[in-house]
Amino acid sequence: MSVSDDPKQLREELQREYGVSLPGLSCYPGWERLLRQFLDEAKAAGELDGLKVLQIKEKLGELRIYHNGSRYLQHVSRKLADLSTEVCEACGGEGEFRTDGGLYRTLCQSCEDERLREARNRT
Ligand SMILES: [Zn+2]
Repeated sequence: MSVSDDPKQLREELQREYGVSLPGLSCYPGWERLLRQFLDEAKAAGELDGLKVLQIKEKLGELRIYHNGSRYLQHVSRKLADLSTEVCEACGGEGEFRTDGGLYRTLCQSCEDERLREARNRT
């Protein structure tokens, strides 16, 4: 599992596709589907024009999207935050919310196994 702090490629792809600026995007590849869901909802609601996405990140194991959208869109992003606790942030599979030494992650079993292996190799 590799988690990029600066997912340049994903950011550029989404910006091109939706024509919206996403300067603060720093989240995990497994949550791409949730991000697209957010942008699709914004598009469907006619809110893409003028939408400012301030930050997209993982916080306490949840996908957080900070934006200046309507109440409806705030509701959408809260719903996606809830959903994200069941989606593996690394691969997009069925994830489980885990805490480990104060670190909150949502990972499927195989990504969790890989993470533990990597952690062992580092020590
Ligand atoms: Zn996974």
